[in-house]
Amino acid sequence: MKVWINGKLVDKEQAVLTVFDHAVLYGDGVFEGIRVYNGKIFQCAAHMDRLFASADGIRLPMPLTKREIVDGMQEAIAANDISDGYIRLVVTRGPGTLGLNPFECSDPTVFIIADQIALYPSDMYETGLEVIIAKTRRISPEMISPTVKSCNYLNNTLARIEAVDAGAAEAIMLNAEGTIAEATGDNVFIVSEGAVATPPPESGSLKGITRQVVMGLCRNLGIPITERVVTVEQLYAADECFLTGTAAEVIAVTKADGRVIGAGKAGAITKKLLEAFRQFIRTECEEN
Ligand code: PMP
Repeated sequence: MKVWINGKLVDKEQAVLTVFDHAVLYGDGVFEGIRVYNGKIFQCAAHMDRLFASADGIRLPMPLTKREIVDGMQEAIAANDISDGYIRLVVTRGPGTLGLNPFECSDPTVFIIADQIALYPSDMYETGLEVIIAKTRRISPEMISPTVKSCNYLNNTLARIEAVDAGAAEAIMLNAEGTIAEATGDNVFIVSEGAVATPPPESGSLKGITRQVVMGLCRNLGIPITERVVTVEQLYAADECFLTGTAAEVIAVTKADGRVIGAGKAGAITKKLLEAFRQFIRTECEEN
């Protein structure tokens, strides 16, 4: 495997960071997870915009232009012969002193890993996932904007540990108010009486790229969609629930905390949106 790091393609073993990089010392950096379908970068412009907004949100001056980063992603895809896969793009604060001050760091590192992707088995898109509601809460928007996709994932990691301990596929995290924020690596949607709802960023959710696409698909399909506060009770009582994310695409949640949601299998609107999402991918990435 070849990894793209600061403008060069190097062997995996040579793709290393210094222990003085504040991404290592403090989790100080930003990243993106991006899909490649048919050799093309899905929603490339949206990912670039979010990356630059995340960097701006932590006052990290981007060392490269969007064009240079996109070229780097293309090089990483080509070098690893990836047709359908996943890109991890990370920008670190760079090496500095042992103190916290990020402005004493220089030379942010940009690295790009293009790899195969591990997917949920296809039957899970029919049966749906079992999730738990985690005790670990999502960091409040007042602490760090949930729209910043930073290298600080510890509270999501702790929630994921709860899921693993419970034998569940994912954990849904609540915000400080106790309403739904998001899953550890995906956004959450519910469907009630034909209407779709998802928590807004103020509830502690990332502005997921998949979420944005799915909201647009709802509008195109004439399915009512609102961003609003979603309570745990509303999730338990929903007709359908699904997660959206770069890796998962659109996947049903059919059990939460042991309670069956809706009919206990992927619902009609979830399936319609998954189908529309896959058609959207084909249109964006497969036709030319
Ligand atoms: N929330 C969190 C915390 C995430 O890590 C992700 C995955 N990047 C998402 C939501 C979904 O976002 P996207 O659709 O851009 O993958």
